[in-house]
Amino acid sequence: MSADAGLSRPGVSAPPRTATPPVAAGDAEVAHSSSAVGAQRGARDEDAGGAAAPGASLEACAAEVAACTSCRLHEARTQTVFGVGNPNADLMFVGEGPGAEEDRQGEPFVGPAGQLLDKIIGAMGLVRSDVYIANVVKCRPPENRTPSLDEVSTCTPFLERQIAAIRPKMIVALGRPASNFLLGCDTPVGRLRGQANAYQGIPVVVTYHPAYLLRTPSAKKDVWNDLQQVIQRLGLRPPSAR
Ligand code: SF4
Repeated sequence: MSADAGLSRPGVSAPPRTATPPVAAGDAEVAHSSSAVGAQRGARDEDAGGAAAPGASLEACAAEVAACTSCRLHEARTQTVFGVGNPNADLMFVGEGPGAEEDRQGEPFVGPAGQLLDKIIGAMGLVRSDVYIANVVKCRPPENRTPSLDEVSTCTPFLERQIAAIRPKMIVALGRPASNFLLGCDTPVGRLRGQANAYQGIPVVVTYHPAYLLRTPSAKKDVWNDLQQVIQRLGLRPPSAR
């Protein structure tokens, strides 16, 4: 991980969240970020003759998620956690499921792991509102357990719709549930990292979940190595390279 981002140094606390506010699923008008990433994507849609607005598709999907009781995870949730970010994003992060803080706030990756993800995004030369962030399951598994296979299979049609609406250029799968769903396998992250993976033609970079990095700071350098693929393919400019 780049030195200036401090992510390679165990024990370094996460900085405050980026000053750019994240965009909720319903804020379609705000979601058209002024970032280069979002602006380029918007121009592509216009060139293509105006595909269906991803914000509208996401809003409809979010409304269905909010009312969903299709698996047992609805029983203990405070609220559903749909996704957040730029509907025109070129880059999408997919995690596992909401934790306690996400369940409370209704937004993915807002707890300690989310603060670390923000830091990672910043080290890549982006801010949180440039990308889109979602989870495999939209309701918090009790005690933060790993979602079961039936819960994943029940919930992931929502994620499939999110990806179809956003049509990112790349997806970063954070941890095993996300990578195993996207790649249709049952394989540890360590064996999927560094491979040429794809979900429906979209390149997928598999790396460790930020919650794992909080427990295993020595793996931060591995994550940074994994993300070099994204930086290069998307032409990003990390602060450390400027
Ligand atoms: Fe519905 Fe997904 Fe929540 Fe299960 S986890 S109740 S499928 S939204």
